[in-house]
Amino acid sequence: TPTQAAEKTYTFYTDVGYAPFEFADKNNKYVGIDIDLIHAIGKAEGFKATVKPVGFNAAVQALEAKQIDGVIAGMTITPERQQKFAMSKPYYPTGPVAAVKKGSNIHSLKDLRGKRVAIKTGTAAADYATSIQKKYGFTTVTFDDSNNMYQDVITGNSVACFDDQPVLQYSIATGMKLQIVAKPETVKYYGIALNKGRNDDLLAKINAGIKKVKADGTYDKIVAKYLGNGT
Ligand code: GLN
Repeated sequence: TPTQAAEKTYTFYTDVGYAPFEFADKNNKYVGIDIDLIHAIGKAEGFKATVKPVGFNAAVQALEAKQIDGVIAGMTITPERQQKFAMSKPYYPTGPVAAVKKGSNIHSLKDLRGKRVAIKTGTAAADYATSIQKKYGFTTVTFDDSNNMYQDVITGNSVACFDDQPVLQYSIATGMKLQIVAKPETVKYYGIALNKGRNDDLLAKINAGIKKVKADGTYDKIVAKYLGNGT
């Protein structure tokens, strides 16, 4: 085991609000599954992590510009990202869904014709929305963070938004006045992103660490801390 002094510190950027994965608690401290996970992986593999909330798209752009070591931000592993980045082994299942205001008369994607829909810049859910936009005939407005996107739907400026199912479910369970209208069409997984060929030792540690914390129950404890019994 490396000594404290020998431990390297790596910088990860994350989203500003993507509960239960990262969010500010009532003391304005950043907590969540991703935050605990990267520290647990670091503990298992002998490195330290500094995690800074900058927003999802800003985090991905900083990684692309090689300004940071990695992104942990409920980031979906997609073929496009695997081309561009070194993506870790998967850790949490996800898929994009649409949500509308609670009690809305929008019941399916078909009801979106001619309406305005809120999406979040640079996300897999935004890509999904854009891919079905012609078919369902809606217009889009973009936001940099999920909370502002949800508020646009709640205030009625947009009739729907697209985001990942586990994040929308958590927000709804904790009081956000939204409801999900469509099931995810695809199941993908979150992974931690690094630059290709730049941090190969860190990638190996992260993959080994994910395996270890999943095998020894640490990961399940982290998830249970934020999600209880998984409902
Ligand atoms: N999972 C989505 C993506 O990877 C959104 C991530 C986020 O908004 N933090 O694009």
